[in-house]
Amino acid sequence: MHQKPIEAGSIEVICGSMFCGKTEELLRRLRRAKIANLNVVAFKAKVDNRYSKDKIVSHDRNSLESIAIENSDDLMKLGHEYDVVGIDEAQFFDNSLVLACKNLAKNKTRVIVAGLDNDYRGQPFGPMPLIMCESDYLDKLTAICMQCGKDATYTQRITTDTQQVVIGETNVYEARCRKCFNPPKI
Ligand code: ZN
Repeated sequence: MHQKPIEAGSIEVICGSMFCGKTEELLRRLRRAKIANLNVVAFKAKVDNRYSKDKIVSHDRNSLESIAIENSDDLMKLGHEYDVVGIDEAQFFDNSLVLACKNLAKNKTRVIVAGLDNDYRGQPFGPMPLIMCESDYLDKLTAICMQCGKDATYTQRITTDTQQVVIGETNVYEARCRKCFNPPKI
């Protein structure tokens, strides 16, 4: 999917709620690029240290070596030597992620960004709306609603924490459809 000649840089965005398979899809595309003998690197924000510090790990534990970076400057510095740059959990970066991705794409890099498009309140999450605007290709994946089994586009927090970022899995979050999503009143 979207396997483009390397002469043209591009920005691909894979978004959706938790448990929709964003990381699996990112890993699938990166693996395909590796098979095509391209130089591939994966980055993720340092805040996300569940399971592993030096690998991108999806819920099914398919993993790929990745570099944890502090900010978008590191992305520019480290990313420009590669043909294909993957970024996981992009919602944790600040808005300068967008410029870094645009610069990489101008520099003929294929940039693949995966992240949560909305947070536990159903609000746009970090730089995701901006990077979605800049994307050449955009895929919004759906999870399965844990309440009714329909397609889910929201992430319901099932604890009472009110910070935007609470790292956790099924003990903290559920995928929910529009009907079953019940945003906290804060
Ligand atoms: Zn539902």
